[in-house]
Amino acid sequence: MSARLELLTCPGCAAPVPLGAGPTVACPSCAASVAIPEAYVRLAEATLRADQARRAAEPVWRALGGPPPAWARNLAMALVVLLPPLASVLVALLVTPALGAAEICAVATLPAVVPGAALWLWAASVGASVEGVRAALAAAPPARAGGPATCRHCGAPLQLSAGALSVTCSYCQADNLAIKAARAEATQASSRLGAALHSLADGSARLRMRRVMLGLGALALCGLFGGAAVLVLKAVRSLHG
Ligand SMILES: [Zn+2]
Ligand SMILES: [Zn+2]
Repeated sequence: MSARLELLTCPGCAAPVPLGAGPTVACPSCAASVAIPEAYVRLAEATLRADQARRAAEPVWRALGGPPPAWARNLAMALVVLLPPLASVLVALLVTPALGAAEICAVATLPAVVPGAALWLWAASVGASVEGVRAALAAAPPARAGGPATCRHCGAPLQLSAGALSVTCSYCQADNLAIKAARAEATQASSRLGAALHSLADGSARLRMRRVMLGLGALALCGLFGGAAVLVLKAVRSLHG
């Protein structure tokens, strides 16, 4: 799209109207039939292509745009509860029978808390990222009570079909999530992020990247504490040896 077109308004009631695929569209305010000029029809064709891309991107969004998997928190909880005593007993029995309680705590009990804590942190951070991206992509509330939700990017009215997950703006082709306006209260941070994320696919890509980066961070944390525990264990053994 080269030049931004002004919002097309209803000649009857002056409410802005969404652009449909056909030559006319029903006004969302007074239901009058509004003729769509040629330039807007071309815009609608561009929207149709963006709309197809959005539909193709929806399955990936469904996988990434929800809360982090429940198994992650359950596994984190199980690891925090089970790993420390298990590691303590193993080290006490198998590795160096001569260790005192404080030494076992330093080389086994405390480091064994880290994997569960890191996984918990990962799940919580992924959850926060999802909330941030959802708020950034959420459609803006209606311009007036009872009207259609508006585009988060350009403010044009959106044509949301019932039960739809998302909709592509017929004016600027930005993808908007169909979630409750109350959740979508635009903060400065979410509108900054929203400006960087034009499509649903952009949102999914960001969330996938966040998952990977946070996962690497969690692994690094485990490696750091694991390595430190091994070093301390070696030092303690040489003291006893
Ligand atoms: Zn009207
Ligand atoms: Zn728009």
